[in-house]
Amino acid sequence: MRTEGVSRLRRVSFAARLVREFGGLLATRPASVDWPGGVVSFTFDDFPRSAWTEGGPVLEAHRVRGTYYTAMGFAGGGNHLGPMFELDDLRAAHARGHEIACHTFSHRDCMRAPAGEIAAEIERNGAALVEALDGMRPGNFAYPFGGVSQSAKAAAHLRFDTCRGTGRGINRGIVDLADLAANSIYTRDFDRALLCRLIDDAQARGGWVIFFTHDVTDAPSAFGCTPAQLDAVVAYAVANTAVLPVHDVLARLGLAAAAAVTAAA
Ligand SMILES: [Zn+2]
Repeated sequence: MRTEGVSRLRRVSFAARLVREFGGLLATRPASVDWPGGVVSFTFDDFPRSAWTEGGPVLEAHRVRGTYYTAMGFAGGGNHLGPMFELDDLRAAHARGHEIACHTFSHRDCMRAPAGEIAAEIERNGAALVEALDGMRPGNFAYPFGGVSQSAKAAAHLRFDTCRGTGRGINRGIVDLADLAANSIYTRDFDRALLCRLIDDAQARGGWVIFFTHDVTDAPSAFGCTPAQLDAVVAYAVANTAVLPVHDVLARLGLAAAAAVTAAA
């Protein structure tokens, strides 16, 4: 019996090593996600100012926090998403316990850039965040435009605990932390029932649902939603599952190895 147990253990260890080594070659980060009762994260990309001034109060009214994947090149500017964040917004969100995570500095599409350029964009953004937030080093990353390529994964997957794409679905069982699934909350195709079914599914089967949007206003862009729409999904999630920023989910799963370490020097 004992011998069988040992040999089974060896087989498992060998399989685990294969997954790790093969995963390294393919720039994947295999990990197991099993969260009894389900967990939901609300994330905002780029960081339009309204994601904080309108979206922040929605989250805080439900006593939960979000994750802001920030492109520092947008600071103080504006685009089709409306006015972008000011540094004071960034600092306020961070001070109130929301997670500040990483995007590329100039929102460069990783599908269209060589690995070296992606790495430089990520390094520049990370350095700007560290400077703006007194040493806070972002532990998580989202691919701009959901542009996930092998070179992008290669550039990003060892720098962060997770990289988030925009492929729909629930993160459950063996997942690739270098390409987490996420689901948009956009006014243009808003379907509350569909989004709530994702939450139900995560609750029933121990999964992690990540939602993302951009601007949050009563007249949002094609890539944003209204405060009422965000509120409807947040309220349903809070009533049915845990709701946590990405970093907190990882920490509680024991997967936050490299995450959000305050810069020591
Ligand atoms: Zn983006």
